[in-house]
Amino acid sequence: MLLAVMPIYTYKSLRAAGSSGAWFRRAVLLRLAAFLALSTPLVWLAVCAERSQLSTIAIEQSRLDVKNLARAFSEEVNSTISTVDMSLLHLRTHWEQGHEGFSTQVERLNKELHGRVIMQVSVTDAQGRLVYSSARPANGMDLSDREHIRVHLEGHGDVLFVSHPVLGRVSGQWSVQFTRPIYRGGRLDGVIVASVAPAYFSRFYADIDLGPDTSIALVRYDGTVVARQSRNGSGDIGKVLRGYPYYAWRTDKTEKAGYFQRHGQLDGIERVYAWRDLPNYPLTVTVGESLADANAHYDKQKTILVRTGVVANVVLALLGWVAIAAADNRRRAVKALAEAEARWKLALNAAGEGVWDWNLATAMLNLSARAQALLDVATPAIACPPDTLYQTIHPEDMGRVIRALRDHYEGRTPDFMAEHRVRQRDGRWSWILARGMLVERAPDGSPLRMIGTFANIDERKNAEEQIIHQAHHDALTGLPNRLLFGDRLQQAIRAAQREQTRLAVLYFDLDKFKPVNDTYGHAVGDALLVEVAKRVAGTLRESDTLARLGGDEFVVLLPGCSEAMQARLVAETVLAQLNLPFVADGHVLHISGSIGFALFPDNGLDSEELLRSADVAMYSAKSTGRGRVCGPDEHLPVAA
Ligand code: GH3
Ligand code: MG
Repeated sequence: MLLAVMPIYTYKSLRAAGSSGAWFRRAVLLRLAAFLALSTPLVWLAVCAERSQLSTIAIEQSRLDVKNLARAFSEEVNSTISTVDMSLLHLRTHWEQGHEGFSTQVERLNKELHGRVIMQVSVTDAQGRLVYSSARPANGMDLSDREHIRVHLEGHGDVLFVSHPVLGRVSGQWSVQFTRPIYRGGRLDGVIVASVAPAYFSRFYADIDLGPDTSIALVRYDGTVVARQSRNGSGDIGKVLRGYPYYAWRTDKTEKAGYFQRHGQLDGIERVYAWRDLPNYPLTVTVGESLADANAHYDKQKTILVRTGVVANVVLALLGWVAIAAADNRRRAVKALAEAEARWKLALNAAGEGVWDWNLATAMLNLSARAQALLDVATPAIACPPDTLYQTIHPEDMGRVIRALRDHYEGRTPDFMAEHRVRQRDGRWSWILARGMLVERAPDGSPLRMIGTFANIDERKNAEEQIIHQAHHDALTGLPNRLLFGDRLQQAIRAAQREQTRLAVLYFDLDKFKPVNDTYGHAVGDALLVEVAKRVAGTLRESDTLARLGGDEFVVLLPGCSEAMQARLVAETVLAQLNLPFVADGHVLHISGSIGFALFPDNGLDSEELLRSADVAMYSAKSTGRGRVCGPDEHLPVAA
């Protein structure tokens, strides 16, 4: 329960809470900053992980692409070289059969191959001197120093030799020489040469569709670039490449294809390369796609990823702001409520009131410390079932409390209020003013929860009782006065009417009282009156009422007295008591009394008439000598 856990607020803390708007805004911002400091790295970690995943995918995709292209490139080059070799073999056969029409053959062949490969053809004799050239007149130039001629002159058998790229001394153009030996009668008779521009091997580049930094190359086993194409054109021919896979692997021929990733030796661009050996020639093709190009395929996704990260961050910030602000608002509301409760609790405590909170569903009444003290119970929560209520409410008050509650539940009163007594642990009754209000109802309208206050009203109740007592009692003797006696007489008459019974009233006046006053003083007279009251009261029954009407006049109500004789008997008893000496203030005093009586309904049908009849009877007693009892029928003697 809120009250039970309610903290104690000092004036200082309440004042601090009052000027806390800016403080709360700062707290929200601080909390949001902390939230973002935690969440932002998480968002960007996820973005980085996804980006790195994309990079891995890009490289894997790139490997697949360059591998497929290397395969296609190698097949293209292999086909081109096969075409060149087939052409060489064809022309060699023609040369070996006689030189006539050789030029025509070369031209026809070039025409047939046009578009696929254009060759220049030349032939040397067995000494390496030029004896035929399709490009210019043969001038017997000695070419025996050229590697592609020399290798055959040295006699390595009938194999196709592919030369280093050679820069033409006259043409200034690069060419690759494909050579085969010519035999006549089983002996070397010369060398036939087909010169092909390297560009023919790299035409493939135009057909591929990778990024702009893609490069393809045809490389000899010794690492010499035979043909190469990249964005920068077909330069770098003749340069020698080092490292895997250009020369080291030549001792191990098991590998025919593979990958590597490095910065290009010729242009420094980092690429994923796939390489593949040509199946029939000592050449290797490479296709390389730059990492930048490979990643560029995923640039869009990466941009989307970054934007997603930014959006996620902004959304997180907004959500964080909303959540933190909502939490702070809630906290502020709770704090404000606690402050309000603290204020009214302070006010109630200052007023000496206790607070209660009654859960009618669980029948538990929760009490603040002050309420606990007012009810004088040991625990702050007690059982209080709505039908029987708190067991220590005074039985006389219970009906009134239940009626007040019902009136409030049923909407007849805006709030509940009841004054009732509760029994304290020492058995005393304490007056409580209970006030409350329903704060919660069930959907069917039945009451669920009430809160309210208790205040001790003993003092007021005592004061009220005293005023009421004073209004109804004689201050000197403490006996009922004329007012109270009148009430009781009326009630007794009503009861007698109801029950068809009778009752009697005695009326008596002390004889010769005045001389006591005159002789001993008023105080002694007073003391005598008190003693008379005590003594007469002692002779009566509990149900009888002795009252002092004023001066030295008293009345007695005898309910249930049905006979004049019975009334006379009581009157005689009272008279006997009055005739006995009194001791007042050290003085022995002798008085007597004159008593008249009357019966209801015989001598009066209402209180006034009855009292008058008794008074008249008393007057008879006085006037017939005092110190006697007279009934209503005993009239005054007729004056002589
Ligand atoms: P009687 O025999 O005819 O009844 O005469 P009495 O002397 O008793 O005098 P009476 O009844 O006529 O008057 C009663 C007197 O009682 C009058 C008054 O001075 C006195 N008295 C009235 N009230 C008080 C009182 O409160 N205290 C005292 N000490 N005297 C009172
Ligand atoms: Mg008198």
